[in-house]
Amino acid sequence: MAFWPSIVVATPAHSGVGTSLTYRSELSLAPGTLVRVPLGAREVLGVVWECPTEPPEGLTEAKTKPVAGVLDGLPPLNDRWRQLVQFAARYYQRSLGEVALAALPPQLRDLSHEQLARRLKRRAKAGAKTGAPAGEVADGHQLSDEQRQALDALATAQAPVLLFGATGSGKTEVYLQATQRALAAHADAQVLVMVPEINLTPQLEARFRERFEPLCGAGAVVCLHSGMTPAQRLSSWLAAHTGQARIVLGTRMAVLASLPGLRLIVVDEEHDPSYKSQEGARYSARDLAVYRGKVETEALAAHERCQVVLGSATPSLESWHAADQGRYLRLAMPARIGGGALPRLRLVDMNHQPKGAVLAPPLVAAMAERIGRGEQCLVLLNRRGYAPVLACHDCGWKSACPHCSAYRVFHKLDRTLRCHHCGFTERVPRACPDCGNLDIAPVGRGTEQVEEQLAGLLADVKRPDGGPARVARMDADSTRLKGSLEVQLATMHSGEVDVLVGTQMIAKGHDFRRITLVASINADSGLFASDYRAPERLFALLMQAAGRAGRDAAQSAASEMWVQTWYPQHPLFASLKQHDFPAFAVTQLAERLSAGMPPHGHQALLRADARTQQAAQAYLNAAAQAAVGLPHFEDVTLYPAVPLTIQRVANVERAQLLVEAASRGALQRFLSAWQPVLLASRSLPEARGLVRFAVDVDPLVI
Ligand code: ADP
Ligand code: ZN
Ligand code: ZN
Repeated sequence: MAFWPSIVVATPAHSGVGTSLTYRSELSLAPGTLVRVPLGAREVLGVVWECPTEPPEGLTEAKTKPVAGVLDGLPPLNDRWRQLVQFAARYYQRSLGEVALAALPPQLRDLSHEQLARRLKRRAKAGAKTGAPAGEVADGHQLSDEQRQALDALATAQAPVLLFGATGSGKTEVYLQATQRALAAHADAQVLVMVPEINLTPQLEARFRERFEPLCGAGAVVCLHSGMTPAQRLSSWLAAHTGQARIVLGTRMAVLASLPGLRLIVVDEEHDPSYKSQEGARYSARDLAVYRGKVETEALAAHERCQVVLGSATPSLESWHAADQGRYLRLAMPARIGGGALPRLRLVDMNHQPKGAVLAPPLVAAMAERIGRGEQCLVLLNRRGYAPVLACHDCGWKSACPHCSAYRVFHKLDRTLRCHHCGFTERVPRACPDCGNLDIAPVGRGTEQVEEQLAGLLADVKRPDGGPARVARMDADSTRLKGSLEVQLATMHSGEVDVLVGTQMIAKGHDFRRITLVASINADSGLFASDYRAPERLFALLMQAAGRAGRDAAQSAASEMWVQTWYPQHPLFASLKQHDFPAFAVTQLAERLSAGMPPHGHQALLRADARTQQAAQAYLNAAAQAAVGLPHFEDVTLYPAVPLTIQRVANVERAQLLVEAASRGALQRFLSAWQPVLLASRSLPEARGLVRFAVDVDPLVI
């Protein structure tokens, strides 16, 4: 008897290969089995999707190839995992193979039979204990009333939970306790905890290890993120897939990990844009987490659930809206642990400051006072480098990138001009390349410059120990070397540093204990950006940044958030002043409703990269022309093709076309019908020069 397994292999959405390929096998292969199959001249990794005993219409033995081998010792990927992958592929308009194979550790493809067997044997020895005793202590403290109420509500919730907890309200403790309960309830239960960027939160990992390794064994907590080596990723993935790991802590990619015992999914800082992938299948890990919870729950006994917890002090408006509608259960924890106050907002009207001042004198004075008391300050700025542009005032030359429609940033420390889009780097020219003028000067300012200026402004300020004030900088440049981020965070926690200047990475999640002043010095760009999500992002950033101040209740009464702005009357600041996220959300959602914007309407982008802007747009417009008459064409609006804000990156021209629909279902069905048209349109004469296209469903930036 022969079997005709359909097997998915890594095929990009654009290759035109169908969703799966049919092979032959002497053995019946369970769906989800990992196999090696011939593809062209190579042998590739594949996942068995189905295994019928009859060949599909028109296929004969001569036309199919046999499966080359099975990855022994690995249990098949379960039905729920396959359902998740299938959903993600369909929803985000990618091929099944691309999504399925991208979810597997790359090393699985390359290991020989013997190597894999050895890895599995090593894992089996490291085996974790099962079960976890219940207990209710928060690092030796009693749970707050709010924490307890949230946990109780969580235990009986019949929907995904939106944990709306102020900064410092103790959300992490709720995650820990919920994890403990889930593990205690079932000997093989597993928990997935997702964070936006794992490197930024070494504390969180430490707390999970501290809490659960003594209870569940040394291998119980594993990480899964893109900063790991291929060997580490394989090891974590195997531990999760075989059930040895009880807790997987990871970034967005972890949402697609194989977790056969999954009983709880936590999405921390659920508003964070990094949950949305910006390449390949552009999935939202937060949305997939909710879907995954539903699929897992359907497979459990009637009274059991795989709970999903989305936590944030500034939830995404999508999640907030879902809670308004009752699709999610909103649990609020408004109070800070220990009864500490949230920082007071101080708006600095830049219209009334000395001309050209980067830092308003009252702000500098306030910082000096804090340093004198042994407290710390945080200064937030959205640009790294020294200055965003270097310019010649004689002839107007600017440090444009030759490969992008963007300026190269001046980095003073190593005297380079660096493009933050394509990476192109050169030494700063001695004179203007166009006119020879020696006097070329930086325009605008970045973190390096603010660090330098602050060090000057605070030069005479003394710490309580009599030493000089110390200013440090933390951004993508200062943390590039492995381990440097941890070192920098440690100097902040230990109190060695008095003022930390940095990009938004300093605003995220950190539990700094001695900060009493946070300042945002150029927030205005977020107030008037053309992107309709800019206010939401700015509000979240400022509120999260404020959340780093006054985390120690004893100092919280005097903690402050300073915002330098030319528009102090802007309504966004009124809600910020009250720490009133709900009020902000209500006004934003009303604006979105009147404009038909998400979450009240649904969007997708068709993006094209090409050698010329004209070709990119021509492809998009041709694809739009060819969409006329497709199913649900009447229910969607196709806008004309436009260049991206940064239209050229690394010599590739970029354009996009917005698709809008009132209903998600209509948008989905239209996109599915459009997909073959998009593939076919590539060979139109107008599209000559097209490099690639991609569909972005529920885009975050348009
Ligand atoms: P969030 O994530 O909500 O901003 P965290 O979980 O970081 O807040 O908690 C803030 C601080 O309060 C942490 O230092 C944490 O150890 C502490 N904490 C949490 N719960 C309690 C509790 N019940 N009693 C005392 N301290 C707590
Ligand atoms: Zn010049
Ligand atoms: Zn560039």
